[in-house]
Amino acid sequence: MLSTMQDDQLSLAYLLQHGARAHGDAEVTTWTDSGPRKTTFARIGKRAAQLAHALRELGVTGDQRVATFMWNNAEHLECYLAVPAMGAVLHTLNIRLFAEQLVYVANHAEDHVVVVDGSVLPLFAKNLPELKTVKHVIVANGDAAALEAPEGVTVHSYEELLAGRPETFDWPDIDERSAAAMCYTSGTTGDPKGVVYSHRSIWLHSMQVCMTDTMRLTDTDKALVIVPMFHAMSWGMPYAAFMVGTSMVLPDRFLQPGPIAEILAAEKPTFAGAVPTIWQGLLQHLDANPQDISHLREVVVGGSAAPPSMMHAFEERYGVPVVHAWGMTETSPLGSVARPPARATGEEAWRYRYTQGRFPASVKARLVDDHGNEVPWDGESVGELEVKGPWIAASYYGGVDPDKFHDGWLRTGDVGTITPDGYLTLTDRSKDVIKSGGEWISSVDLENAVMAHAAVAEAAVIAVPDEKWDERPLVAVVVRDGHEVTAEELREFLAARVAKWQLPEHWTFVAEVPKTSVGKFDKKRLRADHAGGKLD
Ligand code: ADP
Repeated sequence: MLSTMQDDQLSLAYLLQHGARAHGDAEVTTWTDSGPRKTTFARIGKRAAQLAHALRELGVTGDQRVATFMWNNAEHLECYLAVPAMGAVLHTLNIRLFAEQLVYVANHAEDHVVVVDGSVLPLFAKNLPELKTVKHVIVANGDAAALEAPEGVTVHSYEELLAGRPETFDWPDIDERSAAAMCYTSGTTGDPKGVVYSHRSIWLHSMQVCMTDTMRLTDTDKALVIVPMFHAMSWGMPYAAFMVGTSMVLPDRFLQPGPIAEILAAEKPTFAGAVPTIWQGLLQHLDANPQDISHLREVVVGGSAAPPSMMHAFEERYGVPVVHAWGMTETSPLGSVARPPARATGEEAWRYRYTQGRFPASVKARLVDDHGNEVPWDGESVGELEVKGPWIAASYYGGVDPDKFHDGWLRTGDVGTITPDGYLTLTDRSKDVIKSGGEWISSVDLENAVMAHAAVAEAAVIAVPDEKWDERPLVAVVVRDGHEVTAEELREFLAARVAKWQLPEHWTFVAEVPKTSVGKFDKKRLRADHAGGKLD
C-alpha cells in the first residue's frame, strides 16, 4: 500500500524564498578592510533573483555549471542560493588549490561561468587561459576592467550585471534529485574528485545541521562561518541558516587570528565553525592578547581531530565549549557530532566529547576489517568506517574511483572504533596509520599527546620507513612562541602517556606544519620533506 502523503519536492528555490520571507530581518555581515558590511536575508533574496535574471541573459540554461572563486561573503551567498534555485549547478572552486588542480577541476566540471572576487582576480587571471569551457567571468567586489580576458571569454561586473533587474524570479520546478551544487575533495589523497549534491540531499542535511544533536542553529544565533564556502559547502551552514533564520558573519579573506579576534569583538557571534588549525592559532593569539569571547555559546571543530588540550583550553580559560564533529566532502559534510549522553557528567562527559561523536538517525555506519567483515561496536575492535544515508555520496562525478563505493556504502578511508552506545573514535586515516612491527600506532593519538605539552603549539606525526619495524613515527613539532623544549624532554613527557613501544625516536622541529588548501596538516608534504629525519 502506498502512503496518502504528498510527494512535495525539496527545492532550494523554496529554501531561498522561505528564508528571505520568514527571516527577512536576519543579518548577513561581511568583514571588509573597513569593518563590517551589513545586509539582510530579504535583500539577499532580491539580489539572488537579480543574479538569476543576469545569468539567464548570459545564456545559462539547464544544468550548466556556474562556478565561484570567492571568499565567504554576501555575494557568494547570493550565488549559493540563485544558481541552484534557477536549476543550474553551483561549483565552488577552492581558491587555495595548486594551479594544475584548479585547472583540472574547472575543466572536469565544464564550468561555463565563473564568479570571482576582485581580491583573487590576479590569481584567477593566471589560470583563465587554461579553462577550456569558461565563457563568462563575473567580477564581484572588485574592478572588472582589471581582467584581460582571452578570446571567447566575456568579463562582467557583478554589480553592473545585477543593477536594475527585477527583484523576483519565476523559479522553475526542479526534481529534488537533480544536481544543485558540486564540490571537489581537496586532494589530501590523490586527485580531486567531484561530489555532486542534490536539492534533496542539501535540504535534508540542512535540517540535520539545525537539530539539537548536531549544531543546534536557531534564529537566536549569529554564526561566524569561518570554514570556507569553497570547502565542503561551508559545512552546510549557509543553507541551514536560511532554513531557520540564523544571522551570519562572513569573514571574507580575513582569516588570520588577529582579524578573527577583531571580528569576534565587533560582532559577538554566538556560534562558530572552523578546522582545528584555525582554533589553535586563535588560542595562541588570545593567550597573548586576552579578550572576552564568552558570547560564543559554543564552537564546532571538525575536518581533522580536535586536540583535547585545545578543547580544555577554550572551555577552562575562555568559557567556550568546543564541540567535536566528523565529516567529509562526500558526506555533505555532517557525519557525526560528539555531544555526550545526558547522563554523563564530569570526566565521563569529557571522554565522550573527545570522540568524533554519534551518528544522527539518517546516517548509517559500520566498521569493516581488511577482509570486508563487519567488526562489532564494542569500543575496541578496529575497522574502516563505512557510511550510507540520504546526504552521503553514492559515486563521484564522472564515475571516477568506483572502489570508494560498494553495496551502497561509502568507504571513508577513516579507521577507528565505535562504542556499544554508538560513539565513533577515529584513530587515523588508513593511509596515515603507522604500521610498526605488525602493530598499528595512531598518528592522531601521538599528536594529541605531544600537543598537550605547554611548549608545543602544533605537532604532526607521520610514518617513516624502518628496516626492523617497517615503519616508525616521526614527530614534526612547532614550538610555542617564547618557549623552548628538546626532543628528549618531549619523549620523557610522552613516556607517561603512551605505550613504550610507541615512543617516537624521530623528531624534527619546524617553523610551521605544512597545511593543505583547507588548513589541515599536509602529511603528503611532510612525508616528502622529512621521511629521513632521525633523532641522534
Ligand atoms: P580531504 O580529503 O581533502 O581532507 P575532506 O575535507 O572531505 O577532504 O576531509 C575529510 C576527512 O577529514 C575525513 O575522511 C577524515 O579523515 C578527516 N576528518 C574530518 N573530521 C575529522 C575529525 N573530527 N577527526 C579526525 N579526522 C577528521
